Amino acid sequence: MESAGVINSDITIIGAGPGGYVAAIQGAKLGAKVVLIEKDKVGGTCLNRGCIPTKALVRSAEVYESLKNAKDFGCIAQDVGVDMAAVIDRKDQIVGQLVRGIEHLLKKNQVTLLTGTAQLQDAHTVIVDDGGGTKTTVQSKNIIIATGSNPIRLPIPGSDLPQVMDSTEALETKELPKSLAIIGGGIIGMEFAFIYASFGVEVSVIEFLDDILSMLDTDLRRQIALSARRAGIKLYTGARAEAIEEAEDGGCVLSFTHKGEVKSLSVDRVLVAVGRRPNLGGLELKRIGIELNDSRRGIKVNNRMQTNIPHIYAVGDVTDRIQLAHVASQQGIVAVENIVGNDVVMDYSAVPNALFTQPEIATVGLSEAEAKAQGIDYQVGTFPFAANGKALTYGTNRGMVKVITEKSSGKIIGAGIIGPQATELIAELTLAVKQGLTAADIAATIHAHPTVAEAVHEASLATKGLAIHI
Ligand code: FAD
Repeated sequence: MESAGVINSDITIIGAGPGGYVAAIQGAKLGAKVVLIEKDKVGGTCLNRGCIPTKALVRSAEVYESLKNAKDFGCIAQDVGVDMAAVIDRKDQIVGQLVRGIEHLLKKNQVTLLTGTAQLQDAHTVIVDDGGGTKTTVQSKNIIIATGSNPIRLPIPGSDLPQVMDSTEALETKELPKSLAIIGGGIIGMEFAFIYASFGVEVSVIEFLDDILSMLDTDLRRQIALSARRAGIKLYTGARAEAIEEAEDGGCVLSFTHKGEVKSLSVDRVLVAVGRRPNLGGLELKRIGIELNDSRRGIKVNNRMQTNIPHIYAVGDVTDRIQLAHVASQQGIVAVENIVGNDVVMDYSAVPNALFTQPEIATVGLSEAEAKAQGIDYQVGTFPFAANGKALTYGTNRGMVKVITEKSSGKIIGAGIIGPQATELIAELTLAVKQGLTAADIAATIHAHPTVAEAVHEASLATKGLAIHI
């Protein structure tokens, strides 16, 4: 094994996902000497096998839906079909462009990017193995661990069959199956369910909990379950996957327990989307005494993103707090700000959550169920997209905006949107929750006409029973 010598840095970051690379750029902008270590491609899960690739597929599915429904808009589309290989190629081009963009930004900001697998040797030393026989030693004043997470494999017989895939494999699959069972009705599972259903695949979802997307309020869940059924997605909730067996026709048979009965589905492929586990492997955390959180899954951090060793920080999925790219990036910024001497804490009160189902869903702050559980005296204002002119021009008359306020102050403490552009509309309500704005503040703000944003305005008015168009 060769040694490539020793590099000294102010901040060494392990992992170049949205937690690590954003921290690296911010650190460099704030004047620190930054080394970023990545064993695969910059951009991490989010860019290479998560947020961006799935949204590229979602967009292809939307275009195909529009073509199928062209007649409703007075347009004629003939011989409409899907070329899944071209869909995946388009996704790869978008990902490639963004990876090159991040590499450029790192270079421009003079971040030293090392390619290889990092291991902590002691509390100030990271060893990088490039896999080709060369090891580099990095001596650092501060270290940020941003190694992300990996998909959880389901511990049932048959889960290693070639017909069974995880989300990473699904994003590379250029052949559409005729039928697909998705184990897991959380965000990733349901996004794939709508994508594949749009492309004409027979989709069944097996969810262990009593409902899909269990983090949502009941009213939002009811609406998305209805949309799923309308899209032809079969939902089995309160169901436990038991085993997968290879079938004679090259497909497989998934058996599961549902309502006390053992049932089975014959499908071409199975997609497992049962969650992700923090990636701690090979870091040697124990050797240098870094503590894990109570669940023993992720690295324990305080609200400045410090581990129990104050100059070692952890950000993103590896902390197992909230597995979202924008949370990872914000945690990365908070870590770097503290390293350079600014006193910044992580605030989780206004984290938007965007679900790219059909229709889209977005939430922020407290759900109604959480407000109730916390004993908050709250009010709810809702406004249906059926009464919004712009939504009707999109060809949609389902969904709603829901605004939750604290009754005494009128402050917006949470919101949920299901409908067109929900993932964009949530930004206004995120600002409201973060800045402690009231529903009256939104109501007093002129919203352009005709836009779907008017539904946010109307839902805010509705908290006081003053919506104009219902
Ligand atoms: P990651 O992005 O996982 O990056 C960690 C990096 O560390 C990886 O590149 C890895 O190769 C590297 N690494 C690990 N160990 C080492 C080591 N020892 N040495 C060197 N490098 C190492 N989030 C959203 O906000 N919106 C979405 O729409 C969304 N969609 C998703 C869809 C799917 C299918 C999936 C799987 C996830 C999705 N997510 C989404 C979640 C999002 O991808 C993650 O929350 C985010 O990527 C976490 O960022 P991170 O920086 O913590 O880790």
